[in-house]
Amino acid sequence: MSDSSTRLCGPFVGGEPVAASDGRTRKLVNPATEAVVGTVDGGGAGDVDEAVRDSRRAAGEWTALAPPERGRILQDVAAAIREQQASLAELEAADAGKPISDAESEVESLARYFEYYAGITDKIGGETVPAGDAYLGYTRREPLGVTGHILPWNFPLLLFGRSVAPSVAAGNATVVKPAGETPRTAVEAARIAVEAGLPPGVINVVPGSGTDAGSALAGHEGIDCVSFTGSVPTGVAVGRAAIENVNPVHLELGGNGPNVVFPDADFENAVDNALAAVFSNAGQVCSAGPRLLVHEDVHDEFLDELADRAAEITLGPPMDDPDMGPLISETQYGTVRRSIDDAREAVGDPVVGGDVPDREGYFVEPTIFDDVPNDATIAQEEVFGPVLTVTTFADEAEALALANDTEYGLTAGIFTEDMGRAHRFARDVEAGVVYINEWFAAGVESPFGGTKNSGIGREAGEEAIRGYTQVKAVTGAIDR
Ligand code: NAD
Repeated sequence: MSDSSTRLCGPFVGGEPVAASDGRTRKLVNPATEAVVGTVDGGGAGDVDEAVRDSRRAAGEWTALAPPERGRILQDVAAAIREQQASLAELEAADAGKPISDAESEVESLARYFEYYAGITDKIGGETVPAGDAYLGYTRREPLGVTGHILPWNFPLLLFGRSVAPSVAAGNATVVKPAGETPRTAVEAARIAVEAGLPPGVINVVPGSGTDAGSALAGHEGIDCVSFTGSVPTGVAVGRAAIENVNPVHLELGGNGPNVVFPDADFENAVDNALAAVFSNAGQVCSAGPRLLVHEDVHDEFLDELADRAAEITLGPPMDDPDMGPLISETQYGTVRRSIDDAREAVGDPVVGGDVPDREGYFVEPTIFDDVPNDATIAQEEVFGPVLTVTTFADEAEALALANDTEYGLTAGIFTEDMGRAHRFARDVEAGVVYINEWFAAGVESPFGGTKNSGIGREAGEEAIRGYTQVKAVTGAIDR
C-alpha cells in the first residue's frame, strides 16, 4: 500500500482503480488533528453506471462457481485482510480518528465476517414442499444478482464486512458506496479481496457523496437489492428509490438503546458496561446504550462511580491509543454540541463533561446528564455522541415502559442476576437485539437489525443470507 498520508482514492471497478468520470474531489480530514490526510476522487452517476454494468458481468460467473470454491476464495480474503491488519487499521484510524486499537478490532471484525460467510456458501439450501404424493415440490434459494451497499462512516470496515460478505457468499456481485468521510478502507478492502482471488467485479466500490453516488446507486435500475446503513431520513429516501424499481431494501438505521440496571446486578460489571455502551467510538454507535435506566435504590452509588470513571476517560489522536477519539467531522461536532447546550437549558448542567477540551480536533468530553425525564429531547433523540442520560425507575414494569418509550427499537440491555427477569425483559422489550449482562455481547453469528424506526431486515448471522437470496418454488407432477 502506498503512503496513506498522500494516497488518492477513487472508484475501484473491475478489479482495478479507475478515474472518476463525473464526481467531485474531496479532501479527507483526520478528525483528531484536522489535518488533511488524503484526497478522494468521488464518483457520480456515470461511475455508478459503470460499476453496476461491471458487477452484472461478474455476477453470472461468480454465481456459477461451485459453492465450496466460493467459500475457499472468501477464506483467502479473510486471511489476506488479517495479513494487512496494520495498514488497514492505520488508514481507518486516520480517516475516522478512532483509537488505533479500535481500528485494529474493526479489521478483525471485517476478516471475521468473510470467514463466517466463507463457511456458509455450501449450506444455502432449499426445502422439499409437502405437496402430496402426486407432486414433487421443492424450493431453490437463489442469489438476487447485483446488490448495492450504502455505508456510513462510524464503522467503515466492520459494516463493509457485515453488509457485503453475506451478499457475496450468497452468490451476488456488489457495488459499494462508502461514506464520503471514510471511503479509503472500502477501496482497500476491495483491492485486497481481488488480490486474494475474488474475481474482479464481484466487489466494486464507488466513493462519492450521498447526493451524487449514493442516490444514483439507490435508484439504479441495474441492481436487484439495496442495503442501506445510516440515518432514518436518508434511509427513507433510499427506500423510496429502491421501491420505484420494485427492489427489496434492507434498512439498518438509528438507535437509542435503553440500558436497564437492577440493584441485584454485579455492580462493577454494570458500571463498566454502562460506560462502554455509550462512550465506545465516542458514542457514534447505532447499537449504543445512551439511555441509562437505573433502579432508584442504587442510583446514587451508581452515578458517583460512573461520573468518577467518565472523568478519567482519556481523549487523544489515534496513534496515542486513548480511551476515546473525536467525533467524525466538524458538522457532527456542531450537532452534538448543540444537543448538549439545549439539554443544559432543558434539564440542567451535566454531572460530568459537557465541555470541549482545549485541543485541535473535534473532541467532546464524555458527558452525563442525571435525572432526565424520558420525554426530554436529549433522552429521545439519537445524539450520536458521548452523551449519557440517567433516569431512575422503581420497578420492573416502569423500567420496561421507559425502555419502550422511544421511536427506535435497535438494541436494549439489562443488568440483573435474576434470569427470569432478564428473559421477561428480553421477551417484552421492543428491540431487535437484546444484551444480558454484557453490552455489545453479540458477534457476527447473531442477527442484527431493528424494529420500529430502527429499520427493516436483518444483517449478520445466517439470517442475512435470507435477505440476499430469493426463493424459487418448483413443483413437478410425478405421474404424468
Ligand atoms: P447518513 O444517512 O447521513 O449517510 C449514510 C450513507 O448514505 C452515506 O454513505 C451517505 O453518503 C449516503 N447518503 C446520504 N444521502 C444520500 C441519498 N440521498 N441517497 C443515497 N445515499 C445517501 O448517515 P451517517 O451520518 O453516515 O451515519 C450515522 C447514522 O447511521 C446514525 O443514525 C446511525 O445510527 C446509523 N447507523 C446504523 C447502523 C445500524 O446497523 N443500524 C450502523 C451504523 C450507523
